[in-house]
Amino acid sequence: MNNDLLSQDIQYLKGVGPVRAALLQKELNIYTLGDLLYTFPYKYIDRSTIHPICEIQESMAFVQLKGKILDFETEGEGRKRRLKAVFTDGTGYVELVWFNSIKHIEKNYKVNQEYVLLGKPTLWNGRISFAHPELEDAQKAMAGMEVMRPHYHLTDKIKQKGISSNVINELVKNAFALCKEQITDYLPLSIRQEYNLIDSKVALHSIHHPTSLECLPESSRRLKFEELFFLQLDILRSSQGRKTNRGFTFPRIGSLFHSFYNNCLPFKLTGAQQKVIKEIRQDMCKGIQMNRLLQGDVGSGKTLVALMCCIIAMDNGYQACIMAPTEILAEQHVKTIRTFLKDLPISVELLTSSVTGQQRSEILSQTANGQLQLLVGTHALIEPTVRFHNLGLAIIDEQHRFGVKQRAQLWEKNTIPPHVLVMTATPIPRTLAMTAYGDLDVSVIDELPPGRKPIKTLHYYEDHQGKLYDGIRNQLDEGRQIYIVYPLIEESEKSDLKNLETGYKLIKDVFPNYTVDMIHGRMKPAEKEETMQRFSSGQSQILVSTTVIEVGVNVPNASVMVVEEAQRFGLAQLHQLRGRVGRGADQSYCILVTGRALNETTRKRMQIMTETTDGFKIAEEDMRLRGPGDIEGTAQSGIPFDLKIANLVKDVELMAVAREAAARFLEQDPNQNLPQNATTWQRLRAIKSQQTDFSQIS
Ligand code: ADP
Ligand code: MG
Repeated sequence: MNNDLLSQDIQYLKGVGPVRAALLQKELNIYTLGDLLYTFPYKYIDRSTIHPICEIQESMAFVQLKGKILDFETEGEGRKRRLKAVFTDGTGYVELVWFNSIKHIEKNYKVNQEYVLLGKPTLWNGRISFAHPELEDAQKAMAGMEVMRPHYHLTDKIKQKGISSNVINELVKNAFALCKEQITDYLPLSIRQEYNLIDSKVALHSIHHPTSLECLPESSRRLKFEELFFLQLDILRSSQGRKTNRGFTFPRIGSLFHSFYNNCLPFKLTGAQQKVIKEIRQDMCKGIQMNRLLQGDVGSGKTLVALMCCIIAMDNGYQACIMAPTEILAEQHVKTIRTFLKDLPISVELLTSSVTGQQRSEILSQTANGQLQLLVGTHALIEPTVRFHNLGLAIIDEQHRFGVKQRAQLWEKNTIPPHVLVMTATPIPRTLAMTAYGDLDVSVIDELPPGRKPIKTLHYYEDHQGKLYDGIRNQLDEGRQIYIVYPLIEESEKSDLKNLETGYKLIKDVFPNYTVDMIHGRMKPAEKEETMQRFSSGQSQILVSTTVIEVGVNVPNASVMVVEEAQRFGLAQLHQLRGRVGRGADQSYCILVTGRALNETTRKRMQIMTETTDGFKIAEEDMRLRGPGDIEGTAQSGIPFDLKIANLVKDVELMAVAREAAARFLEQDPNQNLPQNATTWQRLRAIKSQQTDFSQIS
């Protein structure tokens, strides 16, 4: 059925055969001609210039030389063995050196024969040296001298078997020769025309063999668009099914909501809070299940939004629940919510593993018989013993601590699933939200409540202790409170715990007139709660802690966050920690303490933190530094396919355009049966069949 040339087995391409085919499959995931053509160069090297050796400097990037090898010499023994050669073009001498494949080099390259050399010059013992240069017979090289030579990412294994970028380049040429004009364009003509995209044939040709740098942007835009289009098409297609899940309808804005709005709100809602409540309310009126992600930077007031949505559910006769990742947070939510609700006739209970005995069974029975309206808790909420009478809305706070499966357990027992609102303060870059969470609708609170001063962030070295303590003392004397956080990656790491305890003793000694407390995850829940309580009520002024205070904790009088060994934290985590201060009207500070020996990435991380408080910017930088796979909250849902040419950070705008195109395409062909789209759908299926499936959000 499929007569697409691009789907032909790579093995039968000239220059491949069964051995190389196996390697290409295993190492580079190349099975077909199409896979080969869709393996893109990661850089190009200008092959139009040959430098004289006398002009070569260490600072130069890749250069080409033309000359001869004068002699070979091996040095060292065993693993230290290396092969050296002297290379000259008559204007000077350079040294060539190989640390492996020595036999192969000695056999293949000859003294006194002319070669074109490509490599990166380095300075070694006062001489210009090239490690593992590429050498090509001069006559051959000059004949095929391209303007730009493509370079491909290769694995060590494949290089050892003699498949270099040049070999791939040859194979690509052979593939083009075979396919000639018959390269299938996977994008429908209408889309190509509408979005002003060149043919894939032209784009593929010039991405591999650009005639100039100028033609690259057009080709790469076309190919990136294609990739992002399929990505978005896949996401939108799979969310099609989800959108038709039946759901409850909450048409009423009733007396509870009105009395809350008129009598209980201690401040005006921000514009952003109003906007997202409206979006959520509209979702809950449609009769289909809501699956919405609510993003809002730390301190943007998500709790209040959550509560108001719960009240809408109650006004319509349904129960609601809020699930938090830690006990401290769940307890804090209950406390905040009870304060907000004042005298409203709404029943709220807390369920965590610490709630036991008589109290627990009462809460469980009230949940089951519908007497209880709002249940707040930890993952205790998903235990089988918890049965709701009619759960209408499930809110999941700080989502990244919960797995997809865990979430679904909440409503396994329902015939109609509740509406789901996932809240996160780990801002996910917009591009990622569109992909990893592409089948969730997204609301963003992009405004902080008024009157907050931006937090000042400073980077101190460990030997700045004096300055650090002076700053802390000033704030304490003004009546403020201080957090000092130590890293504790695994709660069981003994040395970390010792650091924390040493730090605690030290701080007690330095500030004898103030009360210092310590909190960490290995303490009993009751002890933790008591310690938090002391800090939150102002009985203690300094809290030395691990990251247990990372998420959500709200003590407006705390104005300084000191992070010890800040280099051990990720950007997202530092941002979360910093969000614990700056919640009142006073100037707050975040002090990142590190040693002086820092690698470049860490230095960059510290710099980003001191330069911006914008959570989205930080998340994007984080992704840039670490790669998208590592971003918190995305690992579990993943991106449906590997991107070969598009970049989630850099190609934000193109992603939005591709999404729009994909949405329209799907709208016009929801049943995937228009003949003019057959190639496109077939392509999507082919891409998908190569990838492992990714799990749905709900
Ligand atoms: P987060 O989004 O990090 O969960 P919270 O819900 O904890 O933020 O809110 C942070 C603080 O801001 C709380 O003390 C809350 O009462 C307060 N707050 C929320 N909304 C507003 C508002 N519209 N105006 C003033 N303060 C607000
Ligand atoms: Mg919160």
